[in-house]
Amino acid sequence: QDWMWAAATETAPAPSLRPEVPHSARIYDFFLGGKDNFPADREAAVEIARVWPSLPVSMRANRQFMRRVIHQLATEHDIRQFLDLGTGLPTEPNVHQVAQAVHPDARIVYVDNDPLVLVHARALLTGTREGRISYIDADLHDTEAILASPQLHQILDLTRPVAVSLFAILQFVTSEDAARAIIRNLVAPLASGSLLALSTVTADSNPKEVEEGLAVYAARGIPERARTRAEVAALLTSAGLEVLDPGVQLVHRWHPDETSAALPDEHVQMHGAIARKP
Ligand code: SAH
Repeated sequence: QDWMWAAATETAPAPSLRPEVPHSARIYDFFLGGKDNFPADREAAVEIARVWPSLPVSMRANRQFMRRVIHQLATEHDIRQFLDLGTGLPTEPNVHQVAQAVHPDARIVYVDNDPLVLVHARALLTGTREGRISYIDADLHDTEAILASPQLHQILDLTRPVAVSLFAILQFVTSEDAARAIIRNLVAPLASGSLLALSTVTADSNPKEVEEGLAVYAARGIPERARTRAEVAALLTSAGLEVLDPGVQLVHRWHPDETSAALPDEHVQMHGAIARKP
């Protein structure tokens, strides 16, 4: 069924999908080995990988980081409510699968602004009676719309702790003021004990590949910003959050498992952290 949908989009894509323009979600899907991408996305991906050959490794390390983070939030922090921004095209396991494997009653609200992501998410990321899921079609910059959305309030009880996740999305927010405002606004209405998890692109571990790779993304119409470890930490602390152990780390070094520990630093260009609202 999944592949039939992919084949159908290949022959008759809806105009709003703009198949001739590369999209970040579909380039990411291609690098992760998915089928939900168009020729323009694949061409851009090949060109990016020529100058940024370790990007697919870094993306997989980010996906593993997401799994370890959601698992830890659900187990050690007993979180049962998740707000995941920048959902991406469905890639197993998705956030709700990791969370609901721990708490079958975990509730998830997904947010993305890519039309293909939303179509697939609605079809494939299905909840259960006890573990409900909803989707919001919104731009990350529009935190007001996200927080006012009925889909959010039907699913999440903001008087109790929520985990907000921003995995591999903040690099698309190129203004530091905007990034700070997004984090500040998202955590403002949350209960004490809520957590924020993020991962975002850095050039710290491999300046040459990242600089050249981001230039190709920009030339293809997708501007991105790389952030230093200190900049990532400042995003969290400026919102009044306490960064939890082990601080801001390259994602494969954040509570590593055996596979991630074996990766060389220069192959991973994402910093990650979790932080708590006091
Ligand atoms: N969180 C997933 C997917 C990351 S890909 C993971 O870490 O594996 C980045 C996602 O962010 C894409 O789905 C893209 O559509 C979405 N995105 C990028 N900019 C956005 C914006 N301004 N508002 C909402 N979603 C955005």
